[in-house]
Amino acid sequence: MSYEHLLVAVDLTEECDPVIKRAMALAAPSNAKVSLVHIVEPMAMAFGGDVPMDLSQLQQQQFDQAKERMDRLFNKYPDINRGDSHLTYGQPRQEIHQLAKEQHCDLIVVGSHGRHGLALLLGSTANDVLHGAPCDVLAVRLQKKE
Ligand code: AMP
Repeated sequence: MSYEHLLVAVDLTEECDPVIKRAMALAAPSNAKVSLVHIVEPMAMAFGGDVPMDLSQLQQQQFDQAKERMDRLFNKYPDINRGDSHLTYGQPRQEIHQLAKEQHCDLIVVGSHGRHGLALLLGSTANDVLHGAPCDVLAVRLQKKE
């Protein structure tokens, strides 16, 4: 059985290249669709919710920068399904699951740093996405940066 629609979660760093490449390689033999998703986490959330200043301009800059980076990826990987790809605000796990359901994706692809020790306790997006996922999840092992 082959997958028909792969949803690749990208953090928009240079590390998303191996994740996208793995997804494209998996999708190619069956001509499956590959879509991207990036979630911009609200800044107030990162600062614990209670920030005594207006973050809206900074937030907009962050969103615009993410859009530029997504566009670069669409140019670099023209086979990606741009129409079904998404850039949105929110919490990665929740948004990725919701999008996978809405778009009837049968595989979510994420990068994984294979954390251990304290970093494992702090959790990872890959772990988070796995729990309660509406379809299969592939964690692409990323090399540690020295
Ligand atoms: P992390 O656990 O944050 O190191 O990220 C591991 C993987 O989770 C990345 O390679 C992406 O596949 C995914 N990921 C992390 N942050 C985001 C984000 N903001 N939006 C979409 N996917 C993300």
